[in-house]
Amino acid sequence: MTQPDGGRGGDSLAGAEVSPPSAGPAVPSGASFQEMWRELRPIGRRPDSGGYRRFAWTGADVECRAWFKAQAEARGLAYEVDRNGNQWAWLGDPGAGDAVVTGSHLDSVPDGGAFDGPLGVVSSFAALDELRARHVTFARPLAIVNFGDEEGARFGLACVGSRLAAGQLTVEQAHRLTDGDGVTLPRAMEAAGYDPEAIGPDPERLGRIGAFVELHVEQGRALDLSGDRVGIASAIWPHGRWRFDFRGEANHAGTTRLVDRRDPMLSYAETVLAARREAQLAGAVATFGKIVVEPNGVNAIPSLVRGWLDSRAADQESLDTVVGGVERAAREYAAAHGVDLDVVRESFTPVVEFDHALRDELARILGKDSGKDTDLKVPVLGTGAGHDAGILSGSIPTAMLFVRNPTGVSHSPAEYAAEDDCVAGVTALADVLEGLACT
Ligand SMILES: [Zn+2]
Repeated sequence: MTQPDGGRGGDSLAGAEVSPPSAGPAVPSGASFQEMWRELRPIGRRPDSGGYRRFAWTGADVECRAWFKAQAEARGLAYEVDRNGNQWAWLGDPGAGDAVVTGSHLDSVPDGGAFDGPLGVVSSFAALDELRARHVTFARPLAIVNFGDEEGARFGLACVGSRLAAGQLTVEQAHRLTDGDGVTLPRAMEAAGYDPEAIGPDPERLGRIGAFVELHVEQGRALDLSGDRVGIASAIWPHGRWRFDFRGEANHAGTTRLVDRRDPMLSYAETVLAARREAQLAGAVATFGKIVVEPNGVNAIPSLVRGWLDSRAADQESLDTVVGGVERAAREYAAAHGVDLDVVRESFTPVVEFDHALRDELARILGKDSGKDTDLKVPVLGTGAGHDAGILSGSIPTAMLFVRNPTGVSHSPAEYAAEDDCVAGVTALADVLEGLACT
């Protein structure tokens, strides 16, 4: 894993260093979406795969953070870093309260794509440029945020910056986070020039925020299928992992008659097909992506097949239907083959519903401003992926906008959104910010 570089002087914790807003020109010339995208593009990019390695507090991440600070200062925004290392760029008085905040994250998964995270941050600055070009009058403070360590690629836990701020990760837990090289989160933050002793819940900062809107590339094909450039998030789907242990009897693959076998692979294979069938019926997803076989010999009937089911659905009832259906089918198949079955739920995350009033307000704004005669023309869709917006939704009204991803591929160098769709996303975000923050 890449080691952090020495950090940057002047990029320090909240209060210690805050650049005041300047009265300079509103927009640096040519600071368009395309130009920002070009600047950010090479940072942390691997020439062999074209994928990104922008892990929290490493050199690539620090470069991304320097880019964020430069964008804030070029626009005359007040720049600050909070106690958890999240970066903020303020227009208006941060202390006034009821602020409208937008932004996302700049870190990546291993060999991640260019869009997951950066699209939201770049679009936020571009939307502000757009609002200034519209000569709007702001009635509420506006801020752009870059949440630290969203992907959890380095320390194994996602959304560390927002979890810490929202009090969903304790300081003790954060101090125990360790990367693959044995470097703890505090040491990594310190090496990047931040004070790890300052981390902790930040209710006062979150209390200043009236609404948080995160724009994100869609991590699925719903918008491609509906033919829309931009959508609004309804919820993050409930999801979980279940372990299925099928236990039979190991025996010789050459000498054991078929009728004498207790082969757990057969009931496992039938269960994989059942998962596909149940998910299809419920409009959900179900995946057996990991398997352990014992004794794992080419010429041996297995004694154990252990498979992990990952399932996600739009609501709890659908998820229960899928998992219940898969388990029932698995028990039938196991009984038919003389195989024992244990099913254990290893993890579960309930549904995250985004704030209904804010979601409806976004739909109203985008319905009206897109020239359509009725509201709710912008599709409202759920997502199976987690986000900082999901973490913050427990503390403040939160909403998300999605931009079309024509292949649905994400967390891969092949992740993509067309430039026209990105620009449509910027316009939609500008419309939303104008509707929420301007008179
Ligand atoms: Zn993301």
